[in-house]
Amino acid sequence: MTTIEAVRGDITRESVDAIVNAANSSLLGGGGVDGAIHRRGGPAILEDCRRLRASHYGKGLPTGGAVATTAGDLDARWVIHTVGPVYQSSRSDPAQLASCYRESLRVADELGARTVAFPAISAGAYGWPIEAAARIAVETVRDTETAVEEVRFVLFDERAFTAFADQVHKLGRQEGEGPFSSESP
Ligand code: ADP
Repeated sequence: MTTIEAVRGDITRESVDAIVNAANSSLLGGGGVDGAIHRRGGPAILEDCRRLRASHYGKGLPTGGAVATTAGDLDARWVIHTVGPVYQSSRSDPAQLASCYRESLRVADELGARTVAFPAISAGAYGWPIEAAARIAVETVRDTETAVEEVRFVLFDERAFTAFADQVHKLGRQEGEGPFSSESP
């Protein structure tokens, strides 16, 4: 059974086995949470990303895919990079966003990670409406079979935290009491 929780905070401060990065397909860094992870994690993460580009991911990481690197100086063993879809109103595909969560958990399972922290993938520069992003995130984690014991959504701002906490509470109501919680620091 996977515990799902939502907390407000900076994901680069989390102590978990794996921190998920909302990367872009180049894997070579960007703004938002990607920039924060590379800044605090140090150059070892980018070195690993460059190696991936030089080997299996010559064309970059496709949308909805996930791949792991070292976590460098972060308090984690791995960073799992995933590429969310850019929101384009009616043409946006929720399945691609769901795939980010599913594929990240698949990679986490391959690595043997038991605790995983996720940001709100695609909900920043990629423009996904936060309520929909939160619903897809929480429902996909709930519906994915994984050996990960704890999934922590780490939300940077109040609005994102509220949206994710609402979805986590909704799950808790659906499942009776249960391994779902949210806390604001
Ligand atoms: P995307 O390009 O996938 O939309 P962004 O990094 O622009 O990715 O935004 C994704 C989410 O991550 C946004 O909700 C943003 O507020 C949040 N975010 C930015 N920095 C951090 C951080 N240090 N920790 C956790 N979340 C963060």
